[in-house]
Amino acid sequence: MTETIGFIGLGNMGSPMAINLLKAGYNMRVYNRDLSKTQTLVDAGAKRGVRPSDVVEHGGIVITMLANDEALEAVTLGIDGILTHLSPGGIHISMSTVSPDLARKMQKLHEQQGCHYVAAPVFGRPEAAAARQLWIAEAGHPEAKKRVRPILDALGQGIFDFGEEAANANVVKISGNFLLASAMEAMGEAFTLGEKNGVERTKMYELFTQTLFACPAYKSYGKRIAEKNFEPVGFTMQLALKDINLVLDSAKEVVSPMPLASHLSNRLLSGIARGRSDRDWSELSRGVLDDAGIE
Ligand code: NAD
Repeated sequence: MTETIGFIGLGNMGSPMAINLLKAGYNMRVYNRDLSKTQTLVDAGAKRGVRPSDVVEHGGIVITMLANDEALEAVTLGIDGILTHLSPGGIHISMSTVSPDLARKMQKLHEQQGCHYVAAPVFGRPEAAAARQLWIAEAGHPEAKKRVRPILDALGQGIFDFGEEAANANVVKISGNFLLASAMEAMGEAFTLGEKNGVERTKMYELFTQTLFACPAYKSYGKRIAEKNFEPVGFTMQLALKDINLVLDSAKEVVSPMPLASHLSNRLLSGIARGRSDRDWSELSRGVLDDAGIE
């Protein structure tokens, strides 16, 4: 396999994903805003770029895994951005969780330049990324999706196709994070109700996750919430607030009220106000404990 992939954004998720592509035999060029984060990849055989455009070739493939809309815009459209270097025929696989609005704008701009934008946001924490266990929602031009399929296969355990409108994959992604945060809030409230009545949180967790809620989301996040142990940090409160606010923006746009999302946004904001911005998002359940007067 000789295709060279450009990879931009070597944070908690991007680093293990890029490592897996190297292991799968792809040649890689990598860029990260903080260049020191490229060292692990360079040691593993990747070439380092000092600006985003360095990792892109005409007609090639570039993957972005960045924090938010602002970062994706800066890397794609800013000075030394990737878009102008990608065409003609290149493909940008955008794997960050960004707004459906930005995905629409990006898809249009890429098409105007004669290249393609494939949205491929992921479900799964950094451990899942390292173990190639991500679930991927993809959307974009059919030919482009066909070309990038082996790359996505090397990153995850399954791909779900949501058609040609890139934004739809992002709608699915933020909806999934809304479901996860709702489950965490619900578990936080249920376990705290138990605790205040003298019932052991972990016993409740056992019953629920062995019976009616025997699914990965409840099992993994429920354990943290039942045990009040939020380590290690995989996905931060700060990024979670970004996603829930993307849900609210999108809901406003299509006039579809989401009162639970408003509650979650406030819950995360209050955790951040208490200094938990870089803590794991499962710690949003500490807000329930705070409200209930439990240390
Ligand atoms: P991270 O904070 O660890 O990494 C973010 C990356 O974005 C870094 O490489 C940083 O250098 C880069 N970046 C930030 N602002 C930038 C800017 N203005 N210009 C250029 N680069 C910039 O985040 P992460 O946990 O790796 O998440 C990356 C994306 O994946 C996010 O959109 C997140 O919502 C999504 N995601 C995360 C998880 C998770 O569990 N961590 C799971 C699924 C999806």
